Amino acid sequence: MKAMILERPGEALRAAELPDPRPGPGQLQVEVSACGVCRTDLHVVDGDLTEPKLPIVPGHEIVGRVSALGDGVEGFSLGERVGIPWLGHTCGHCRYCASGDENLCDEPGFTGYQIDGGYAEKTVADAAYCFPLPGDQSDAELAPLLCAGLIGYRSLVMAGESSKKLGIYGFGAAAHIVAQVATYQGREIYAFTSPGDTTAQQFARDMGAVWAGDSSAASPVELDAAIIFAPVGPLVPAALRAVRKGGIVVCGGIHMSDIPAFPYGILWGERVLRSVANLTRQDAIDFLELAPKVPVKTVNQQFPLAEANQS
Ligand SMILES: [Zn+2]
Ligand SMILES: [Zn+2]
Repeated sequence: MKAMILERPGEALRAAELPDPRPGPGQLQVEVSACGVCRTDLHVVDGDLTEPKLPIVPGHEIVGRVSALGDGVEGFSLGERVGIPWLGHTCGHCRYCASGDENLCDEPGFTGYQIDGGYAEKTVADAAYCFPLPGDQSDAELAPLLCAGLIGYRSLVMAGESSKKLGIYGFGAAAHIVAQVATYQGREIYAFTSPGDTTAQQFARDMGAVWAGDSSAASPVELDAAIIFAPVGPLVPAALRAVRKGGIVVCGGIHMSDIPAFPYGILWGERVLRSVANLTRQDAIDFLELAPKVPVKTVNQQFPLAEANQS
């Protein structure tokens, strides 16, 4: 099969011809039809994330059809459309797995990072971490739900159910999905982008934001919560300044530049600052049930596999 592989961080992906991966016990072999590009893929390629299997087939927003079943797989059938997300394996016995926080597992395996992912014609994945994708949305439209959607959704949950005025810092893939879900839930979105990025600000308004402007500007209202998707540390104090007493600031990215020192006064008042790491399978079940109700529509630009470096 054809695949795009990363041999060393800092280098471009290389086109390779690999043997078809065979599904082991409990695994699905999936013929990949679409695989999204996530910011995390770029962090893997750039070497910001330091524990990749090498060489690795990146890509963890995978949509495809089941092409072979490993021994013991139940609940999936040949030809069924499935999605494969970032969380590819958990140990099942550490304190986090035991308490329902499998996103924090001590010995996890992540798709496209430690487990070969979706920039290939075929991939194999543990069936227990794959999700059926029924419905008539296109494969390419669904792909971003598998990470941008799931991490965005988990970030939205962590921002608190009662947070009505919600700031979003960095308006890309995750934000455009969160904005649709949050608007559906009756929240107001305030979108903060790089200063002067009027294209992103218009995009945010198109996705339902009631206000969009520069991240260097003060928020037009006192926010109940904020989610930071841009990997930019100085946005942390900016968001803390924008939220009310008791407000929550969620850092939704896997990597961020250093956070500058800030006065305790902007955290005081029981403001909460937290990160969101990975996802649980329950997040996927919850979000994939909610998304068609919104319905979440994604905007994408498609590239053939061989042009993965351009995308
Ligand atoms: Zn574990
Ligand atoms: Zn991702």
